[in-house]
Amino acid sequence: MKILLLFLILAMLSPLLSQDNAMPENAHHARSGFKNPYPGYKEQGLKELMKWLIWDRLIKNEKSNEADSVVFELAKNDPAWLQKNQNKFSITWVGHASLLIQIEGLNILTDPVWSNTVSPVSFIGPPRLTQPGIALDSLPPIDVVVISHDHYDHLDVETLKALGNEPLYLIPLGIGSFLEDLDITNYQELDWWDEITFNGIRFVCTPTQHFSGRTMFDRNRTLWCSWAIIGNNSRLYFTGDTGYFPGFKEIGERFGPFDVAAIPIGAYKPRWFMAPVHVDPIEAVDVYLDVKARYFVPIHWGTFQLSDEPITDPPKVLMKEVSFRKLDEKLFKVLKHGETFIVPHLEQNLKKIKNWVE
Ligand SMILES: [Zn+2]
Repeated sequence: MKILLLFLILAMLSPLLSQDNAMPENAHHARSGFKNPYPGYKEQGLKELMKWLIWDRLIKNEKSNEADSVVFELAKNDPAWLQKNQNKFSITWVGHASLLIQIEGLNILTDPVWSNTVSPVSFIGPPRLTQPGIALDSLPPIDVVVISHDHYDHLDVETLKALGNEPLYLIPLGIGSFLEDLDITNYQELDWWDEITFNGIRFVCTPTQHFSGRTMFDRNRTLWCSWAIIGNNSRLYFTGDTGYFPGFKEIGERFGPFDVAAIPIGAYKPRWFMAPVHVDPIEAVDVYLDVKARYFVPIHWGTFQLSDEPITDPPKVLMKEVSFRKLDEKLFKVLKHGETFIVPHLEQNLKKIKNWVE
């Protein structure tokens, strides 16, 4: 009898004892859209938005005005080299979350935004403070565009119209009809953990903790995601927009280690409002460690003033944290707008060391 009871208790506890802590794969699907399924997430509604805009900004005057006087220097890049490059793994920061990634012969854009404002109306909304690091017409032919979610600073009508139907658009669930309205039909919608292989490169749609919507009436109707881009010898993780959540460890387990992770470091203040959906530079280091990346390329800063921290703060806070944790500063590539980072392959480094030793 005692043994039977013991078996019964063990059977009841076994789900808790399971080694597999992964979230059920469709836990983010909601009745009319999507939700953040990981424990600890706090939804911010209109009440909290009003509290931020009226209490923090108007009454306490907590928004930094630094952006009014700051000018970021553009790096001089080499469009002719980018046009020719077929075999170097390179990353060029256009600005905000827009990157040109060259990986094993493929030219990829992430969240391409070349417009001067990021809002429903062109004459209001956060203006672009730093011009795109490379002109749209200087880009090499784009093979793939990956989109993380539908917010204006990530999904830009004018830029998509200019890019047209030639590239393959990889998008999270629900964004397809938006592209079709722009006459873009060359797309593939993916759910979290879905993947597609294009010209030998795997693109995996991976979770983030964020939200979506372009108006007052379409909140969370379309999905948000990050992307693991995996070639034969090169691996990159593009985080999109996200709060810190336990899913990064799972992404690291399943697809890491990555050569590079592009991780947001800006738009994080006030923390009480932003933390569920935007990491700060300190949490960004946790993301980097969780996904097991070698190089860290910061994104989502220095281009549009979306939040209350001074616009030059994110990389300073990041590098302070890097030094506090005694990480190797050389692996944290704070790029200028337009700067190209050629990612050294680990094997190349090993070869160099081997040659040097011999
Ligand atoms: Zn967003």
